[in-house]
Amino acid sequence: MATKHVTVFDGDDASPEVMVPTVDILRSMELDIEFSYPLIGAAAKTASGALFPSAAKAAIDSADATFFGSTSGDSTAALFYLRWGKQTFANVRPCKWLPGFNSPLASPEGIDFAIVRENLEDLYLGLEGDIEDLAGLNLFSPHARANISDLGPGKYALKAITEAGSERVIRHAFELARQRNGKRKVTVTCKYNMLSVSDGLFLEIGQSIAKEYPDIEFEHFIVDDFLCRMISNPHALDVVVMPNLYGDIMSDGAAGLIGGLGLAPSGCYGADYAYFESAHGTAPDIAGLNIINPTATLLSAVMLLQYLGFAEAASNLERAVKEVYVGGLALTKDQGGSSSTSEFCTAVSTLLRS
Ligand code: ATP
Repeated sequence: MATKHVTVFDGDDASPEVMVPTVDILRSMELDIEFSYPLIGAAAKTASGALFPSAAKAAIDSADATFFGSTSGDSTAALFYLRWGKQTFANVRPCKWLPGFNSPLASPEGIDFAIVRENLEDLYLGLEGDIEDLAGLNLFSPHARANISDLGPGKYALKAITEAGSERVIRHAFELARQRNGKRKVTVTCKYNMLSVSDGLFLEIGQSIAKEYPDIEFEHFIVDDFLCRMISNPHALDVVVMPNLYGDIMSDGAAGLIGGLGLAPSGCYGADYAYFESAHGTAPDIAGLNIINPTATLLSAVMLLQYLGFAEAASNLERAVKEVYVGGLALTKDQGGSSSTSEFCTAVSTLLRS
């Protein structure tokens, strides 16, 4: 296998506190991976005058994948490039309870599902503006419950659900259901009753693709009903696919079921590129305290290794993380422990060598 190239962004606020030790662990595994660290944000602005310089873009383009620490403010241009520039349309967020995870549920054993969040469309296109700018468009829909001209001053945001965008992410979900050792089931959820045209299309495409996968069980729920089911019986879920905004919200809720945001990894996949990051943000409120839980970032690194073809290394790293929890060896505050981020990572390193 040829050397793999990974671009790393340590991120902002508390992100470097989990990214730096995770990459140290990856390096210690002596895999044929070269890491590069292009500058973005304020540091890049000082060095080259741009927040997201062409060198950073070129580094992303020439790498096999990116390992991304959550960003805020000036660095978000890199995230936008990784999503819309690299067309990483399927944001896969596994939600798997492991023994030792501090779940609020009485019986979290066996929770193992993945949310596939459409990553590029829906309300995240950034097409927002003044309602009065829509007046001249003469928008008409038989489903409309209000006239634009009657709304008065305010703002709008455009929600777009495209055929191609929906098809590729729903297909990704079905393929994932085939790969997982789980229940071989795909659930589509969105608000297809109130948004019968846009979310209605998403459901329709799901129903149509389901016919191509007779080996995979298919079901669909309106998103509010889905949320109730996700909380009351998460064990029944396998792969759940939904438009962007619902996926953003539901995946934080899913993380809450197993023990919190510190445990939730993610991988964003396109046709020929992928990047990996924790599902959580930069955790600014705990930055500098060395208490942020590195599990989400370590499990994102597991997904990165799987993507790059290092299957054995991926399962070794996952095993080491699991063993920290099983043994209650070095748990961080969010998991009911009193260990630091560094102590958790040292425990993982030690287990990896054993
Ligand atoms: P974003 O909008 O980018 O998702 P956010 O501002 O909504 O970010 P997060 O940064 O994800 O939120 O943090 C939400 C809360 O969860 C904060 O109180 C934060 O400290 C906590 N949190 C997030 N990640 C972790 C972690 N890995 N370990 C411990 N606590 C975390």
